[in-house]
Amino acid sequence: MISVFGSVNMDLVAYVEAAPALGETVTGRAFRTVPGGKGANQAIAAARAGAEVAFLGAVGDDAFGPQMRATLAGAGVDVTGLRTVPGPSGVAQIVVDDQGGNSIIVVPGANGTVTAPSETDLEVIARSDVLLLQLELPIEAVTAAARAARAAGTTVILTPAPVQPLPDELLDAVDILVANEHEAAAITGQAGHEDAVRDLRARVDWVIITLGSRGALTAGPGAGPALHVEAPKVRAVDTTAAGDTFVGALAAAHVERRTPDVSVRFAGAAAALSVQREGASTSMPVRAEIDRSLA
Ligand code: ATP
Repeated sequence: MISVFGSVNMDLVAYVEAAPALGETVTGRAFRTVPGGKGANQAIAAARAGAEVAFLGAVGDDAFGPQMRATLAGAGVDVTGLRTVPGPSGVAQIVVDDQGGNSIIVVPGANGTVTAPSETDLEVIARSDVLLLQLELPIEAVTAAARAARAAGTTVILTPAPVQPLPDELLDAVDILVANEHEAAAITGQAGHEDAVRDLRARVDWVIITLGSRGALTAGPGAGPALHVEAPKVRAVDTTAAGDTFVGALAAAHVERRTPDVSVRFAGAAAALSVQREGASTSMPVRAEIDRSLA
């Protein structure tokens, strides 16, 4: 079983010709609400890839809370541990212009109230094979969850996004770090991928750096050289949440005790399927599709 201790956001996306300057009002051409948040996205990706998944986190008591709860439950995620707290849900207000550029304001809302894992969260984490963590909850809560998982023998997979300084107590409790190339460079100060992997491997047993259409670099667990796993060649139409799809599928494969290399290929296959479709959670493939693409 996989538990995800993470964020749930409603993305509020406005499409405009040109983003308004401060003090300016413009008329947009379209608007969409899209359930998201890195925690929720990874949970949905793992469930669609065939895993049993429990979500731990919080939504607000506004109109978005029930919508996001229903989205997670609809994907087969156990939402017993998703609390409803007074106040607004997490939102990301996104403006996309005609050049495809965007600006984003994230207001953590309910996510920001999760300052520590609850007793129930800790019980679920201890019962899990894998715990998925990202950095959209307060870092002290993420650190406490990681340490509890480590103590219980639960494998900890961390996505260090949004990138920020990582406390030693957190990194020391991580088994698998999955960073994109920008995150890896920001954390290590190393521009070269091989150098970044080497630095991170001094702290974490298994490090994966995702490289977009170029696939992923994986090193570990244990000693041995880094291996470059190519991404399937596909026509990408929307890469939103490719990284979250990769991590969710990786966790699903890991729970089934696939070897590291096979797990990375499975994750890459899932992510490559997701980029060929529009959307975030709606673009994530189900198990049969992933298996078919690997056959
Ligand atoms: P995002 O922020 O869009 O969720 P990310 O920046 O975290 O993504 P990326 O490294 O861009 O992560 O992509 C994650 C994985 O998704 C890659 O390692 C690769 O397996 C797959 N992927 C991304 N883009 C493509 C593409 N154009 N073609 C095939 N696979 C892709």
